Amino acid sequence: MVHKVVLIPGDGIGPEVAEAARLVLDAVDVGIEWIERDAGSAALEEHGSLLPDATLEAIRDCRTAIKGPITTPVGTGFRSINVALRQELDLFAAVRPARALPGVPLRHPAVDLVVIRENTEDLYQGIEFERGSPEAAALRGELEALGGFQLAADAGVTVKPISVAGTRRIVRFAFEYARANRRRKVTLGHKASVMRYSDGLFLRTARESAVEFADVPWEDVQIDHLTARLVMRPADLDVLLLPNLYGDILSDVCAGLVGGLGLIPGANIGWEYAVFEPVHGSAPDIAGQGIANPIAMILSGAMLLRHLGRMEAATRVEGAVDQVLSVGEARTPDLGGSSTTMQVAEAIASRVAA
Ligand code: ATP
Repeated sequence: MVHKVVLIPGDGIGPEVAEAARLVLDAVDVGIEWIERDAGSAALEEHGSLLPDATLEAIRDCRTAIKGPITTPVGTGFRSINVALRQELDLFAAVRPARALPGVPLRHPAVDLVVIRENTEDLYQGIEFERGSPEAAALRGELEALGGFQLAADAGVTVKPISVAGTRRIVRFAFEYARANRRRKVTLGHKASVMRYSDGLFLRTARESAVEFADVPWEDVQIDHLTARLVMRPADLDVLLLPNLYGDILSDVCAGLVGGLGLIPGANIGWEYAVFEPVHGSAPDIAGQGIANPIAMILSGAMLLRHLGRMEAATRVEGAVDQVLSVGEARTPDLGGSSTTMQVAEAIASRVAA
C-alpha cells in the first residue's frame, strides 16, 4: 500500500530536520510516496506566496502532511502562516506529547504528558484592532454604548472568542484521545473566575460534554495553579486540555520539562486532514549549521505513522529514538553532544531498519 504524504521542509532549521525525518521514515519502509511542496520563505521566492494554493491543494488531496517550522516574515499580510494553515484546513486540535526520554537527564524523570490544545479560536483567532486606528476608535464607541466599558484611547485590542461548537469538538477529541490511548485522566486548564464568558463557557461546555465519557476521569484547574503544579509535580498530570493561548504556552513548559524544544513532536488534526510538525520554531540562531536536533521532527513522523495506521512502524521509530538516546550514541549540542543532525538521523535510521 502506498501512502501519499505531503512534505513541507519549511524555514530555518526546517529543511535540515525534514531531511533527517525523511531518512528515518524511508528506512522504516512502509511505502510513503513523498509529495514535496513549499510554504514560508522558499514558497515566497518560488511562487510569490507564503502559503501557495498548490500546497493547500496537495494537502487536501493527500489528507496528510508533515512540515518543518515556518517563520512568518513581518509585513507580508500574514499574521502567522502556521495559524493560517490550521484555519484553512480546520485543524482544530493540536496534540503534543511530552515524554521523558531515556538518557536525557531531567529534574522530573517520570514525565509523560500530552497537551491537547484548541487550535482555531481564542486570542489567536486574529481579531485585532490596532491602537489609534479608526476601527479601534469605533470599537471604543461601541463598547462605551454597549456596557459603559471604558477603553483607553491608546489601547490596542485583541479579541478572545470561545464558542460552544469549538469547545465541544476539542473536548470530544481530548476525551476520545484519552480513552483510545488508555490515559489516566484529563486536566482542563482555564481562568473561568475572571473570563466568565470565554473560559467560563469553555469550562461549562466541557462539563456538559464530559458526561458522555464517564469512564475517563477528569478535573478542572485554574490555569495559574495548573502551571505551578506542572513544574512542581508533573508526574501527577497526564492529558492537559487547553484553550489556544494556554496550550501554546504550556506546550513549551512541557518541552522544558523533558529536555527542550528539540524533542517534542506535534500533530494538528481536524476531521479531514492532519499536519504533523515539531513544536519548535525555525531557530534561526542555529540554522544552516547542521546541528539542529531532528528528534522532534522524527517523533512527529512516528505520530504520522500511527495516524496512517502503521502502529508497528511508529513503535519501531520511537524505540529507535529511545535506544540512540539511552546509549548516548549520537546527540546534538542541545543535549550536550557534538553530533550533527544527519548523524543522529542515520543512527536512528539504522536501528529502525535493523
Ligand atoms: P518561533 O517564533 O517560530 O517559535 P523562536 O526562534 O522564537 O521561533 P524556536 O525556533 O522554537 O523559537 O527556538 C527557540 C530556541 O530553541 C532556538 O533559538 C534554538 O536555540 C532552540 N531550538 C529550537 N529547536 C531546536 C532544535 N530542533 N534543535 C536544537 N535547538 C533548538
